[in-house]
Amino acid sequence: MSTTATEIRLASRPTGRPTPENFSIVDTELPSPAPGEVLVRNLFISVDPYMRGRMSAAKSYVEPYEVGKAMLGGAIGEVLESTVDELRPGDTVLHGLGWRSHAVVDAQRVSKVDPDAAPVTTYLGVLGMTGLTAYAGLLEVAEFRSDDTVFVSGAAGAVGSVVGQLAKLKGAKRVVGSAGSSAKVKHLIDDLGFDAAFNYKDAPVAEQLAAAAPDGIDVYFDNVGGEHLEAAIESAKPHARFAVCGMISLYNATEPPAAPRNLTKIVGKRLTIRGFLVGDHFDLQKQFIAEVAPLVRDGKLRYEETIVEGLRNAPQAFLDLLDGANTGKMLVRV
Ligand code: NAP
Repeated sequence: MSTTATEIRLASRPTGRPTPENFSIVDTELPSPAPGEVLVRNLFISVDPYMRGRMSAAKSYVEPYEVGKAMLGGAIGEVLESTVDELRPGDTVLHGLGWRSHAVVDAQRVSKVDPDAAPVTTYLGVLGMTGLTAYAGLLEVAEFRSDDTVFVSGAAGAVGSVVGQLAKLKGAKRVVGSAGSSAKVKHLIDDLGFDAAFNYKDAPVAEQLAAAAPDGIDVYFDNVGGEHLEAAIESAKPHARFAVCGMISLYNATEPPAAPRNLTKIVGKRLTIRGFLVGDHFDLQKQFIAEVAPLVRDGKLRYEETIVEGLRNAPQAFLDLLDGANTGKMLVRV
């Protein structure tokens, strides 16, 4: 067995858009597990937009990453050494010490997954955190009802692609998505069954949304914020519900956003606009898996993954995620 491990550390905090210099790749000695811990060889790690927030020192709902220390994030791996009875070498586990080749993890903080029930990568995506985010946000936060017209931004990404397909499967009248390339727009319509989609880079979002949903929208699932949120307020029907999941257009911003400029319309339209965090909805986990795993298995809910090869390419994979290089879930094969 190799005696070295590799980890990605936060080298410095970015201002605005992060660069490769904000990361360092460090080879270390293979750690050993103490009693109550397991040694895991990571197979895949997740890179996610929220990690941009953790690179900053600003107070938020999660602790900032520490400069000079390995970064954290979702990972799926194989147990190499165990000091507890419940986990054996060879077990496949999900845990929170990504951004490294090997991790010593408190056995209480890993979940064993069945690698034969679904491809292991799905536990980081469609059947994992991003899938649950879509499920909870659409059904519980936005209180989706069949016959709703739904607009989702970031629609070709990990969360957005599940939101749009779930809404269709559950009887939405119309599902509209926005994404950042013509290939993604085609994918939404041809592969994922969206009724309409547009490239937000082609023309103002408000114009394109009004054309795609001429009768207005009942639900907006926001992954982007800014101009998209303004457009959704403009197209919202009275009593529309917004699930605000993320605002990726602002994560690298160094100035306050120029939009939305139409917040007064929230009053007249009696809009409900709710931010949410997936961590507040873990009670739905069982229901989510019971409902969504069969849809995925039967090919009724499709998922894409963009897999970058090699841990040393993880910083670039993360930067590319922020630039929209991914379709579906962005992962790194360690
Ligand atoms: P993702 O959508 O798979 O990847 C991010 C995508 O954002 C990129 O592919 C890119 O696609 C798009 N993007 C980047 N800059 C943009 C901009 N300026 N304007 C519009 N789109 C832009 O990532 P994800 O993991 O599914 O996350 C989606 C959103 O959900 C993020 O806002 C994230 O922070 C949020 N989230 C929230 C929770 C929660 O608990 N609230 C949990 C998970 C994720 P294009 O090519 O289309 O630009």
